[in-house]
Amino acid sequence: MSLVNRSAGRGLKWRRNKNNKTEGLPDLLFSGILSNSMERTLILCKPDCMRKNLAGEVVLRFQNAGLRLQAAKMIRLTDALLTEHYSHLTDKPFFPEIVNFMKSEPVLALILTGENAVIVVRDLLGPTDSRKAAKGTVRGDLGESNMLNIAHASDSVENAEIEVKRFFRSDEIPV
Ligand code: ADP
Repeated sequence: MSLVNRSAGRGLKWRRNKNNKTEGLPDLLFSGILSNSMERTLILCKPDCMRKNLAGEVVLRFQNAGLRLQAAKMIRLTDALLTEHYSHLTDKPFFPEIVNFMKSEPVLALILTGENAVIVVRDLLGPTDSRKAAKGTVRGDLGESNMLNIAHASDSVENAEIEVKRFFRSDEIPV
């Protein structure tokens, strides 16, 4: 069965063929916009996702796109961890609200791996504001707002490496 992703955020269209290879993304790869690399990325299924009992659906969407689950754990986030993780937002008026929201329920932290995993996951997720995310994306289908947007996903390969180490000890990642 082939799986098709029609992306809102970046206008990417790609599919996996019966051999589980991507078709569509290679156009971008050949044009030099993307390089084809095995990556890992950090996901947090946020408190709204956990409250709505949607973690399984979110993980399934990523797995159906060919990504593999490398590690998973439930965590209750702390002020210190959130201040580090959202350091780019500490001066925003809504920062205290985000911290309270992210602490309100334990979250499911995941490491997913795959070809171009960072951009593929961000594309499946959709833009930050769920109200602006297209149907077919995780946030567009399941989210409600800017803050209640179901999941966090690393936004670059560099940040993915930092975030994996922020949320997982090396002995929590099976080899
Ligand atoms: P993203 O999670 O899409 O990478 P950001 O890093 O900009 O987006 O923001 C981190 C998180 O902060 C968002 O996922 C969202 O939960 C929250 N957030 C961002 N902008 C707002 C806003 N204007 N109002 C409330 N919460 C926001």
